[in-house]
Amino acid sequence: MKAQNSEPIARSPGRIFVISGPSGSGKTTLLGKLLKSRELKNLLERSVSFTTRSARRGEKQGRDYFFVGAGEFRRKRREEKILEWTKYLGYYYGTPKDFVEERLRQGKFVALCLDTAGAKHIKRTYPAQAVTIFIAPPSLEALRQRIHGRGRETVKAEIKKRLGMAGQELKESQGYDHCLVNDDFKRALAELKGIVLKYKVNG
Ligand code: 5GP
Repeated sequence: MKAQNSEPIARSPGRIFVISGPSGSGKTTLLGKLLKSRELKNLLERSVSFTTRSARRGEKQGRDYFFVGAGEFRRKRREEKILEWTKYLGYYYGTPKDFVEERLRQGKFVALCLDTAGAKHIKRTYPAQAVTIFIAPPSLEALRQRIHGRGRETVKAEIKKRLGMAGQELKESQGYDHCLVNDDFKRALAELKGIVLKYKVNG
């Protein structure tokens, strides 16, 4: 079954855009806008990950994440429903396998917001389809302010941990296919759109 399905994926014109960036870099907002753009509306879809962290204010089950318990997450891994997974600041996050592979078989574009480990994993698994994009914040101070503005993460320890991760993540940005700085939202969005549209067959 696996071998039968893997060939169409290897030759698929579909693409996986893996977007990474420190928490607060604005990657989720940029991706949200990109998904609404006229040129990509019927081609690009965002994959919704499973996570064991709890929902932030304003986040919705099934739209932002599938919020699950640790037991359910483990079961999904055992059943091979998860393409890649990571542990980020004590919580599990995983990409749904069927969703991504179905879109690739259909020749569609999928966007994933993943940490740097996830981006490497996807690049190894789908070398012909994966395009990695790193979104950097204009500065660490801007990042600190954005993280501060988020509901439940105003807990000091959480902010500190996320800022600590940001330094490491920025170091790893060099391995990405594309890197853009989100200092001006409009410009960053145009740049991101330009990257994705380059892969659209027949313009
Ligand atoms: P947050 O808690 O800020 O939503 O996400 C924390 C980090 O986990 C972010 O870097 C986010 O991109 C990443 N992430 C979210 N879902 C997944 C996933 O399914 N796999 C991996 N590897 N990283 C993920």
